[in-house]
Amino acid sequence: MSVAGRAIRAADHLLGARLLAAQKRRQAGVIVLYHRVSTGPDAAYPPLHPAQFQAHCEILKRSFSILPLGEMVERHRRGLPLGGCCAITFDDGYGDFLEHAHPILQRMSLPATHFLVLQSVLEGRPNWNWRANRLAQAAHGRRDVPHSFEVLGRLSGLEMVGHLGRWEAARRNDWLQEAEDALSQNHRLAPEPRMLRAPDLAQCDASLISWGSHTVSHAMLGWCEPAALRHELADSRLELGRITGRDVDFLSYPNSSFSQAAIAEARSAGYSAALAVGQSEVSWTSPLMALPRFDIGWMDASRLRLEVCGAEAARSALLGRRWVMKWLVAKSRRKGASRGLGGHKARRSHE
Ligand SMILES: [Zn+2]
Repeated sequence: MSVAGRAIRAADHLLGARLLAAQKRRQAGVIVLYHRVSTGPDAAYPPLHPAQFQAHCEILKRSFSILPLGEMVERHRRGLPLGGCCAITFDDGYGDFLEHAHPILQRMSLPATHFLVLQSVLEGRPNWNWRANRLAQAAHGRRDVPHSFEVLGRLSGLEMVGHLGRWEAARRNDWLQEAEDALSQNHRLAPEPRMLRAPDLAQCDASLISWGSHTVSHAMLGWCEPAALRHELADSRLELGRITGRDVDFLSYPNSSFSQAAIAEARSAGYSAALAVGQSEVSWTSPLMALPRFDIGWMDASRLRLEVCGAEAARSALLGRRWVMKWLVAKSRRKGASRGLGGHKARRSHE
């Protein structure tokens, strides 16, 4: 394990439980977010390994009361204590949820809410963010990218999301399809992941899993015109409700993009709460239509407690105590040296 990894473990050992207790005392709760849980590689959206997800769930179950999102929202609405409460959420509707995450949640009796993109459920294709990422990676460093798609060679996946995010959904979809057709002429594109379809949703444990909307097309709502907002929010709620046979009361904003107009439209479409990503805890002052979540679906379980207690709080607690940093570095060196992996010379020999 790297020195940084050992320092994180030592920091978690030293501060994790104390920061959790402090969070509980200040009556703040936590909503966590995952995307993919799978054993397979996916360069466009690297998944969390199921063993890591299991480790996450064990830490969450030990550290918090895991509530259905609806109960957490109700506690927030009624001003009841949120300290020690946690809700688990997933975004995007990847098919590996059913194969890898759902069995673990079921075995551990953990409730979760999965936010679905209506188009992915209906058509079985991943959302445009994934497709833009895959294209940017496929085009990287290539000289045979057609001129009309040369932007793919210039921008990273993240920059592509920013570039395409302002486009109207149909135009964006057409452009992506044309780019995929053009690039796949001379290059094999990575296969698309399986997405959750209506029969998959019916297989999930209805006593544990609830469904939310992640819009019709994974739209960046902050950029949408009023008519598109209405379609993305109202139509996805109605249609997902019809497909799942359950009320769809909650919304999560794709790419955490929203505006005052999007909030107003979400309210009038009938959502009772909406979720963003803010890497911060939920308190009574958190707005019900923009509750923050911790995106932890990419991190090693050893970082989890520090992260959900507020990475900023943990970092400032560490930086505020220089002796802690010195102690952590010394401790990780001692541990490394005792295993023959620590010192500078030993590491160099492994490079
Ligand atoms: Zn998403």
